[in-house]
Amino acid sequence: MDIFHEMKKYWTGKSPEGHDKFSIPFRPDEDGMIGRECPNEDCQPRYFKIHIPESDEEKPEKTENDMNNDLSQSDIICPYCGHRGNMQEFHTREQIKWIKSMIERDLFKSIQDTFKQALKPSRPRNGSFLSIEFKPGILPSVRHYIEEKLRREVECSKCGQKYAVYGIAFHCPFCGGGNILIHFERSKQIIMSLLDSGDIIKEKGGEEALHHHMGNCLEDVVSLFEGFHKSLYSKAIIERGPHEEAEKKIKRIKTNFQRLSVAEEFFIKDLDIEIFAPLSSNEREFLEELFLKRHVITHNLGLVDQKYLEKANSMESMGRELDILRPDIQKGLEFVEKVIREDVKLLGLYD
Ligand SMILES: [Zn+2]
Ligand SMILES: [Zn+2]
Repeated sequence: MDIFHEMKKYWTGKSPEGHDKFSIPFRPDEDGMIGRECPNEDCQPRYFKIHIPESDEEKPEKTENDMNNDLSQSDIICPYCGHRGNMQEFHTREQIKWIKSMIERDLFKSIQDTFKQALKPSRPRNGSFLSIEFKPGILPSVRHYIEEKLRREVECSKCGQKYAVYGIAFHCPFCGGGNILIHFERSKQIIMSLLDSGDIIKEKGGEEALHHHMGNCLEDVVSLFEGFHKSLYSKAIIERGPHEEAEKKIKRIKTNFQRLSVAEEFFIKDLDIEIFAPLSSNEREFLEELFLKRHVITHNLGLVDQKYLEKANSMESMGRELDILRPDIQKGLEFVEKVIREDVKLLGLYD
């Protein structure tokens, strides 16, 4: 009797120890990617996707990671935490559930077949008073899964392979190369394209809409600074360990990196890095004021308040609407870039 049904097509034989062996092929999504999940439980967000080369021409040259032609047996690297391991360690929980559901279905079917054979319908013989007939029940269904949609697709600048991640990632899963600046560049380009769309916004919604739009762009610059510094800080702190202490420090970040002086303090105290060293004092002051403007936009409808006047050392009048100009945002973005590039260098994250 066949034990395997759903799993039969994947059966490849027996191991020397007598265990059944299966080979389940990758099931790429419509973008040609398969989901992977980092086995390191402390890693966040763990899920990413890698592109499966379709043709031989697409297959990469051998890299330092010794990517062999059998991708299923290659080592890969978690783009978030850098954990390195065999491809087989990186199955997603959904993929495992799918395989388990096939095994479960096969198991139920085998049990039902056994009963069916053992309890074939028969007429009661002379002297017997019972006839049993076995009616098989509904088999458990095979689970289906779809890979998650990840907006950020990256092509590694070192090995040319493609992969997709959530937000910011540090490594290429194929060659391990430091790719964080590719992410920065992408985020910067998005802000630049939003700034470029200012004219269309003005045409459609007038001066007020443009002002609102510029406020949003400024928020994006602050978020860029905050998001990258959060990631850089967390990664460096985790690497320095110990784990529990690192977790405590990371928890303290909250929204603190929206304020330049606090971010500066965290980096000096915990990582011995002066994040604003690449900026002149004027540039630093300019950035500080820009960040304060963002605070006013988010929390006071863009109207100058007492706190802003005190901190920004500004000549503006109370209650007046703040000017948010494109050249200022662009300049701020340029300074943020200077800082982040230097951080990445000092933390040794770009190789
Ligand atoms: Zn990881
Ligand atoms: Zn690479």
